[in-house]
Amino acid sequence: MKGRKLLMIPGPIEFDPEVLRSMSEATTSHVASNFIESFGNALDLMKKVWLAPNGQPFVIAGSGTLAMEIAAANLIEAGENALVISTGYFGERYSDILKRYGANVTLLKAPTGEVVPLEEIEKALKKKTYKLLTITHVDTSTGVLVNPKPIAELASKYNVLSILDGVCSVAGEEIQQEKWGLDIVLTASQKAIGVPPGLALLVASQKAILTWKNRKTPVSNYYADWENWLPIMTAYQNRKPSYFGTPPVNLIVALETSLKMITDEGIQLRVERHQKLASAFRLAISSLGLDILPVNVNIAANTLTAIYYPKGVNGNILLKHISDFDIIIAGGLLSKIKADYFRVGHMGSVSSKDLLATLSALEYALFKSGYKFETGISLKTFQYLVM
Ligand code: PMP
Repeated sequence: MKGRKLLMIPGPIEFDPEVLRSMSEATTSHVASNFIESFGNALDLMKKVWLAPNGQPFVIAGSGTLAMEIAAANLIEAGENALVISTGYFGERYSDILKRYGANVTLLKAPTGEVVPLEEIEKALKKKTYKLLTITHVDTSTGVLVNPKPIAELASKYNVLSILDGVCSVAGEEIQQEKWGLDIVLTASQKAIGVPPGLALLVASQKAILTWKNRKTPVSNYYADWENWLPIMTAYQNRKPSYFGTPPVNLIVALETSLKMITDEGIQLRVERHQKLASAFRLAISSLGLDILPVNVNIAANTLTAIYYPKGVNGNILLKHISDFDIIIAGGLLSKIKADYFRVGHMGSVSSKDLLATLSALEYALFKSGYKFETGISLKTFQYLVM
């Protein structure tokens, strides 16, 4: 590639040129009729992508952390109990956010590369009355995939609200928000949704909205308060002008474009594409004799892969060689093993060609690092499975 590198980190990702082009259209007023239409379309399309026809979508300027915070600020009240099911760095972040809003947090922490067993979750739910529980669908620090369906069922059984942190999963992993009974599914624009960073996105169930309406105390975060945002979202859904805080016009136009592309591809086919590419990529990695962080492939994400450096290979040098090959991948994130692994994102508009280029770069870097393997084996494995 001339003059630029291929961005293969787990967000921000490579964006489709059509999305980038729509983002560069002249900025209109936030109450211009064409923008009202775009915003309204984006909100309607979110319900389709989230599979939540009766859900309430929110699009607010900010990152994924804001989406996490919006759900926490509106649903928890000081002194209430929250159960955080953690498979890594972002589970722990949710615990921190909830504590800021006065929640008593019980943190169920899976060992690195594993998930929390369902029995353990049910045991916790039996012990105490919880207001809500949180699940990290894909923890981007470990590449571990959690199955949210049975956890959402448990939440319903114990009358606990369920929040899914889908920052690294929405539009890349299977999610059926309404069918599975998830109360909040939240994400950010820069991952599998395929829009440059800057949008906090979430869809709330009617039960979540009702819970917020019945709060005893006001929401203690002014910017995050649904009191301010719900009328704005419903106005745009009804194709009416409205204002609370200036919306990021260009990003929302780009969101409409990307959501249209996602629904044109078909959400199920899109998830299958992610699964196919991810499983071929994992097998290619394994053909090189490298190990992934999730303890088995059934809990390995389809949006990114976390891979241990082989023994004797210096991580920083390996990443530098990969960068020399014009591919950017990410280092580790989980503090206690940060220096032991790296991460490759494969979501959104990622193609088999992008992954082949990444495997070529990885082989080049491993070779330069003196690691012994059969040259070309990962490319052969990947092509055999995908082409
Ligand atoms: N949750 C998960 C699972 C994430 O991967 C991330 C970002 N990597 C976040 C939350 C936070 O999102 P942001 O960086 O956009 O604030």
